[in-house]
Amino acid sequence: MDKAVDNLTPLLAGVRTFVGRTHGLFIDGDWRALDGKDRLAVYDPANGAKIASVVNASGDDVDRAVRSAHDAFEAGVWSGLAPAERERILLRFADLVEAHAEELAQIETLNQGKSINIARYVDIGGAPAYMRYIAGLSTKLHGETFDVSIGAVPGARYNAYTRREPVGVVGAIAPWNFPMMIGLWKIMPALAAGCTVVLKPSEVTPLTSLRLVELAHQAGLPAGALNVITGDGRTGQALVDHPLISKITFTGSTATGKAIARSAADRMLRTSLELGGKNPAIFLADAPIEKAVQGAVVGGFFNNGQVCAAASRLYVDRTIYEPFVAALSEAVRGMSMGPGLDPGAQINPVVSAQHRDKILGHIDQARRDGARVVAGGQRPDRPGYYVEPTVIVDAAPQLAISRLEVFGPLVTVTPFDSEDEAIALANDSPMGLTASLWTNDLNKTMAYIPRLKAGTVWVNTHNMIDPNMPFGGYKESGVGRDFGIHSLDSYTEVKSVCIAY
Ligand code: NAD
Repeated sequence: MDKAVDNLTPLLAGVRTFVGRTHGLFIDGDWRALDGKDRLAVYDPANGAKIASVVNASGDDVDRAVRSAHDAFEAGVWSGLAPAERERILLRFADLVEAHAEELAQIETLNQGKSINIARYVDIGGAPAYMRYIAGLSTKLHGETFDVSIGAVPGARYNAYTRREPVGVVGAIAPWNFPMMIGLWKIMPALAAGCTVVLKPSEVTPLTSLRLVELAHQAGLPAGALNVITGDGRTGQALVDHPLISKITFTGSTATGKAIARSAADRMLRTSLELGGKNPAIFLADAPIEKAVQGAVVGGFFNNGQVCAAASRLYVDRTIYEPFVAALSEAVRGMSMGPGLDPGAQINPVVSAQHRDKILGHIDQARRDGARVVAGGQRPDRPGYYVEPTVIVDAAPQLAISRLEVFGPLVTVTPFDSEDEAIALANDSPMGLTASLWTNDLNKTMAYIPRLKAGTVWVNTHNMIDPNMPFGGYKESGVGRDFGIHSLDSYTEVKSVCIAY
């Protein structure tokens, strides 16, 4: 399974220089003083080497960043620009991301561990199209006009309409699986709506956000419109608790999302919460085995399973269950393993030593609970944070491995005997982010779709997202939707205006 490390993508000269520099906090349009601050180490998951360190921002740092964003918002240096001017700057920002794509992709792979192919074609490669879509919405914000029916003083006439106004300072908190991409999912709609932003990337993968903010300012973003602070969960909590923050947009685990929602409740802080998934894929009897197995590999092992939308629970019609498990196990055993910088490696390290140990702990627990590992399940004997891609069977629905999000290269496979049983198994989860269905039977497809409790249902595909297609969760997978023409709604307040004349 191991690949010789003879095929590594050579790093661009600027990448090592950027990664190795003394990183600070980007506040009020510039890098701010760093000396004497608590710092957090950043590692290369491919070998465990420390490659950088970033500031673990204190409450005072958070306060400085939020005040900068607040002053910029109140002064109208961003929200006061004509929408077409905001759009122009955001489009230039997209152009700069595109121009620096290889550099950003290499930084992402070095820090996150993911395949350079995924960094090139998804994380960074997908960014300009998304950014341009959202930039275009800057000029599409609009309200409604309406006639007034009740409460009229005799003889008076009224003109009534609504305005959409930016909500204020947005605190954006991102996870480590698609660091720059998900950071953009937060800052782009906030900026397009006229808000100002303080972004806190994950402490595990902060590097691309630190480069991104430089490009944003090169594009013409005014000082204070986008601040980037680094730090751990305490920094994130200080951002949530800051009284000048008007909205938190968060992507991360359900546990952290719930903690944020509890803090937010006290002052009715607006929140959008994109949380975890434990997503089912259902393979019906007519699904061709080869295509079904390819779908399961992409659904379950893309980005080493570190995908909120990943298909981690596979339900397979009993008539094809045995050949499906055999073919999937063989495919998974055949996946080549290596560093993300090796474009030929299909399985790469997971993001951190801590996360690797968590995944291995889930596998051990599954074994103790009576489930069977039929492929993988071990930590390979090599440096770096690797976990073998793993297939587990005989996992009863109540077991931890069937219920908890593992967020690693691991799937469970379970047979079913009827449509009702497949639906019941698929929906038997506190989460509801995505689901996929694999069949060419149109009638069955149309019967399944409304019965699946998930924010996205894919048919004969998995992990497919698009800027125009809303994305978010049912149940504990979150509140709110990213993407789509309504992206800016949750970054605005609706103001009703009624004029008597
Ligand atoms: P996490 O919840 O541990 O951390 C996410 C971010 O929250 C980090 O920046 C972290 O520093 C910060 N944080 C931690 N505690 C905080 C607190 N008390 N207050 C404020 N901020 C705090 O998540 P993670 O491990 O970085 O990411 C993986 C999770 O993200 C998975 O559960 C995955 O499903 C989820 N995810 C969801 C989506 C989606 O769109 N639904 C997309 C990607 C990832």
